[in-house]
Amino acid sequence: MPRFLYRCPVCCTTSPLCPTAKAADAEGSTHRGQLHAGHHPDGETVGEVNRRGQWYATLGPLAGPRSRLADALIDARDPDGMGRPFWADVAADAILAGGSAAALWVTSTVLTALPGLT
Ligand SMILES: [Zn+2]
Repeated sequence: MPRFLYRCPVCCTTSPLCPTAKAADAEGSTHRGQLHAGHHPDGETVGEVNRRGQWYATLGPLAGPRSRLADALIDARDPDGMGRPFWADVAADAILAGGSAAALWVTSTVLTALPGLT
């Protein structure tokens, strides 16, 4: 299940979890209307977070897909929960390592099968 948050850097507050980006935008709109007279604070953010509450946009190019995969694995069993059990991280690592090894094997097999390269 996707999880979205609205963050106001002026108030240093974060909205409760929202199931959609539109709901997080609505949280932001309500916040702006009540506390900032409708003005948009510089640096406010709406984005998707993982089951640990980390913004996907701030995760690196390797940690982001790994986190999405681990979250997808645990979401299949507990779609509305937060937190991530250790087995989901281990399974995500195993899937990514297996996929990388398979891609390396296919690449090396194709390259060695090409005439003139060996
Ligand atoms: Zn604010």
